[in-house]
Amino acid sequence: MAAKTLSLWGEALHQLNRAAERWKIDPDVVERLSHPKRILQVSVPVRLDNGRLKVFEGYRVQHNVDRGPAKGGLRFHPDVSLDDVTALAFWMTMKCALVNLPYGGAKGGVICDPKTMSEGEIERLSRRYASEISILIGPDKDIPAPDMNTNEKIMGWIMDTYSMHQGHSVPGVVTGKPVEIGGTLGRREATGRGVSFIIEELAKVRKFNLKGTRVAVQGFGNVGSNAARILQEAGATIVAVSDESGGVYNPKGLNIDDLRAYNEHEPLSVYPKGEALTNEELLTIDCDVLVPAALENQITAEIAKRMKAKYVVEGANGPTTAEADEILRERDILVVPDILANAGGVTVSYFEWVQDIQAFFWDEGEIRQRLGTILGRSFQEVWRLAEEEKVDMRLAAFSVGLKRLASAVRQRGLFP
Ligand code: NAD
Repeated sequence: MAAKTLSLWGEALHQLNRAAERWKIDPDVVERLSHPKRILQVSVPVRLDNGRLKVFEGYRVQHNVDRGPAKGGLRFHPDVSLDDVTALAFWMTMKCALVNLPYGGAKGGVICDPKTMSEGEIERLSRRYASEISILIGPDKDIPAPDMNTNEKIMGWIMDTYSMHQGHSVPGVVTGKPVEIGGTLGRREATGRGVSFIIEELAKVRKFNLKGTRVAVQGFGNVGSNAARILQEAGATIVAVSDESGGVYNPKGLNIDDLRAYNEHEPLSVYPKGEALTNEELLTIDCDVLVPAALENQITAEIAKRMKAKYVVEGANGPTTAEADEILRERDILVVPDILANAGGVTVSYFEWVQDIQAFFWDEGEIRQRLGTILGRSFQEVWRLAEEEKVDMRLAAFSVGLKRLASAVRQRGLFP
């Protein structure tokens, strides 16, 4: 059993070692994957609106590039740490290998609180950070994308800054940028749509009807609010949602469009058309499917013991601690792991990068159809293995990803 005090990178290594042992992965490969390839720490000086200068600390971690350029989001958050960014970069390596995209894994982060900053300050921070990490990124090297508190606008600034350095437009340096400058249709809601696709696949194999399935969603940002909206369109009843202020519960179902409009200006905890609840209450509420779509380490051992959901579909990265994961297994609560459940985002990012390189853009129907094909195939691959080998879905997902990675590492050989 993992100790309670594992850091996020410790949690990730625990998952790697558990899977490597079970699937007898070459120890040389495990040794390689236990160390990120490259870490860049940068100081990001920004002129604040009050005239003072403040230096922010930022990171870009490339975990692995054996299967292609590094790929991963950029997070702006006061709790960003190098340890967390390393773990998130590792999960990107695993995710891209699992869904078979020709990428390695990376992640970036800046320690800042964008909620207390003006748009001008956020733009200056984004552009200077992009400039500082420009020695590492590029369409063939490492391609950032949105994550917590970063969005299309920020991706546009990063693309513009990098392009200014190069002297010409380089749309393929980031994904998740506005459609007008080389973004793709369908990227904004891709991760939430992927979560919804995965729940539909789960409903098929577990033989339940999505219509009337009661879903609770923690986190109402890009992933959570889009997943809630698309699941509602598919017939599910969204009984509870939350943001960092707390949440709202209505056993008869919430109106997600109304909540999205409300949440543009007000926190969900004061939404009047339902019962207020805390984030802890949301995680333990009576529902069929729980979608954690906020931060890591939300489902702790203590929460896992009290959860009433039948299924956990991890929209966020690393929302379940190793200890909680074990409790959920003992309690027969099925967990669809993050590297599968939230892979819709990086999959449509891949489509965006391909379209940028070809300078040929697809319609939204084609994007949805290709996303469904990739996620459906990945889900079935993991599900079949989990059934055949009688293991949980996280172990099965790691098997598919690790074996693909191990083969790439072996075939490339060791330099020099
Ligand atoms: P976001 O910034 O758009 O939204 C985050 C949401 O979580 C907000 O509603 C915020 O209020 C809420 N939140 C923050 N702290 C919370 C807390 N302590 N308790 C409850 N809610 C809290 O971020 P996002 O892009 O939706 O990312 C959410 C998660 O999904 C992260 O783990 C991220 O790494 C993961 N993810 C995102 C993408 C993507 O495409 N954006 C892709 C894959 C995975």
